[in-house]
Amino acid sequence: MTEEYIDYWQLLASIDSIAAREGRNDEVRLIAVSKNQPVEKLLGLYKQGCRLFGESKVQEWVSKKEALPKDIEWHFIGTLQKNKVRKVVGEVSLIHSIDSLELAKKVAEVSVEKGVTSHILLEVNTSMEGTKHGFTEEEVMETYPQMQLLEGISVDGLMTIGPNTEDEGKIRRAFKNLREIKEKLEKAGKRLPHLSMGMSHDFQIALEEGATLIRVGTLLFGERTQKGG
Ligand SMILES: *Cc1c(COP(=O)(O)O)cnc(C)c1O
Repeated sequence: MTEEYIDYWQLLASIDSIAAREGRNDEVRLIAVSKNQPVEKLLGLYKQGCRLFGESKVQEWVSKKEALPKDIEWHFIGTLQKNKVRKVVGEVSLIHSIDSLELAKKVAEVSVEKGVTSHILLEVNTSMEGTKHGFTEEEVMETYPQMQLLEGISVDGLMTIGPNTEDEGKIRRAFKNLREIKEKLEKAGKRLPHLSMGMSHDFQIALEEGATLIRVGTLLFGERTQKGG
């Protein structure tokens, strides 16, 4: 896809047609990644019918949330510091970016305190790029049994950020790898409904490899205009 950005309904239609072509009969959800985008742009998408947004900076998200309609469902997809956990727990329907056992424990503890269950995904570094957060496969396999025992959280699946490359083969291997790790974990426990993978440039490959949640930013909104990560 070469256009700078694409209409919301056009993107949904494109997701549906890829899913149909792949014979997928599970639900695939589109998360509009609105980090570093102004509130007006989120509202524009809201008016087109979008109700699921993903944000990655706690402070930025809190101020947007206050300015926007209350029926928006929020997912937190960015690096989460332990001292910000309290702001997020109970306020988002899914945290995609749990990257350590310590963080999972903190989310569990705050959730119990607030009397809620936090739905989380474990972020896996499938490209082994040093700049990326996330567990290695070994770490996930090793810590998952402990996470399953924690009260206050429900591990609902895995998330990854694909390798930053034009090489489709590499991207596909990373996504396939995430799916295989999920299948291994399922052998040792409950079914994990979610694979969060695929962004603007690689969501088609992700859908082909089984993504249930795709996180699209620039393709929907255009280039990010505000400063920050
Ligand atoms: C920014 C971001 C996205 C969206 O990236 P685009 O390339 O703009 O689609 C998806 N996932 C995460 C975790 C992000 O930080």
